Amino acid sequence: MVLPIVKYGDPVLQMRAEEIKEIDDEIRTLAADMIETMHAGDGIGLAANQVGSLHRIAVVDPSAGKDPDAIIVLINPDIIESGGDPVEVNEGCLSFPDVHIDVVRPDAITVRALDLNGDEMHYELTGMLSRIFQHEIDHLNGVLFIDHIRGLARHMVLTRIKGMKRRGEWDI
Ligand code: ZN
Repeated sequence: MVLPIVKYGDPVLQMRAEEIKEIDDEIRTLAADMIETMHAGDGIGLAANQVGSLHRIAVVDPSAGKDPDAIIVLINPDIIESGGDPVEVNEGCLSFPDVHIDVVRPDAITVRALDLNGDEMHYELTGMLSRIFQHEIDHLNGVLFIDHIRGLARHMVLTRIKGMKRRGEWDI
């Protein structure tokens, strides 16, 4: 089932999602719904906060729905190491329609997470997948991509969003 996506302005996006203690039917259904919702929105990643849930789960699909084997479900993910040269990449977010900003993040990360079977997985990532994982794990910590920019760039984005809200182009 495609779920409504929570837009910036809803407090759930700035809350920390809670560790999942048991991978039960509720979590499996949530994962399936999140994958469907991500694909319906042409996204490559989605965190539970973005569908109004505070379970610590995110889904990632760098193929944007083209390759079923590319889908990754992350339960209780943690970045246990990060490094490499910081890189600037233009990012979007399903909770920020039509907003794209340049965000600087480390290139290399190591992530520990559970999969849907409860098996512990380790991911050593660089490039696009590292970028998506960092963006989604941020969501689970209540951190948004605009929190990575400061000063005039941040002011301009927030002013633009205010204008979109005023014109009714930002449904929350
Ligand atoms: Zn996002």
